[in-house]
Amino acid sequence: MTTAPTGPWTTGRIAEVERPTDRLVRLRLEVADRVDHLPGQHYVVRLRAPDGYTAQRSYSVASDPADPLLELMVECLPDGEVSSFLHDEARVGDVLELRGPIGGWFTWTGEVPAIGIAGGSGVVPLVAMLRYADRLGLADRLRVVAVGRTYADLPYAAELERRGAFLALTRENHHDRVAHPPYPDELAPLVDGVERAYVCGSVGFASFATRLLGEVGVLARTIRVEQFGATG
Ligand SMILES: Cc1cc2nc3c(=O)[nH]c(=O)nc-3n(C[C@H](O)[C@H](O)[C@H](O)COP(=O)(O)OP(=O)(O)OC[C@H]3O[C@@H](n4cnc5c(N)ncnc54)[C@H](O)[C@@H]3O)c2cc1C
Repeated sequence: MTTAPTGPWTTGRIAEVERPTDRLVRLRLEVADRVDHLPGQHYVVRLRAPDGYTAQRSYSVASDPADPLLELMVECLPDGEVSSFLHDEARVGDVLELRGPIGGWFTWTGEVPAIGIAGGSGVVPLVAMLRYADRLGLADRLRVVAVGRTYADLPYAAELERRGAFLALTRENHHDRVAHPPYPDELAPLVDGVERAYVCGSVGFASFATRLLGEVGVLARTIRVEQFGATG
């Protein structure tokens, strides 16, 4: 297993900004003295007001380690202090304070066949894993289930689908699948032969997905969870 690197505080200059929907912002950053991340790791972004007040939040890396830019996808939460600032105010050329990469537990480098199941913006670290897997010819070792309310709401929906992820939309029919969270019957064939499971999303989603994995026979000790909970 590859040891996960940890990076210090640095800065990231925004090289590209895209707002794929009115609730998402995709930032691509040139990071000074960047330390290469492993798929699944995250960064902390720190905002600083002129009076010295700071707020910091974690954001998973979406980019493949080989990408020269660091990509983050932020979902704008109503009244969210950091996410709404990034969504509304981030411009090309702005410089953000960053620390990372961080996290040694929620990483995957193809060492075991795995499944990832994510809800909403929880797909971001799985996108990094899929991009990495594709580049290294490891795509058959990673299965992904992405859960979103609608296709438009789900970050990276088109890319996830193109890379073979199973999409379960809960408020919209998709192809011939009727809107519903993933069923055990849908998950069962996907967990066949996997030795590890990654769960990522809100606290509620993580408990739903962990329970579902248990129902289809995935052992609790093989499940790694990253929760995007409320920040106190
Ligand atoms: C390891 C890690 C990786 C993360 N990666 C991503 C990522 O790739 N993309 C991304 O968009 N977010 C990600 N998050 C969540 C992110 O860190 C922030 O929690 C989120 O952006 C909200 O921050 P805020 O300052 O906008 O909201 P706050 O001002 O902290 O909160 C505003 C309101 O939203 C509620 N709230 C806070 N966080 C959430 C949440 N995640 N879901 C629902 N309600 C919430 C609060 O209780 C409060 O009522 C990640 C979190 C962790 C721990």
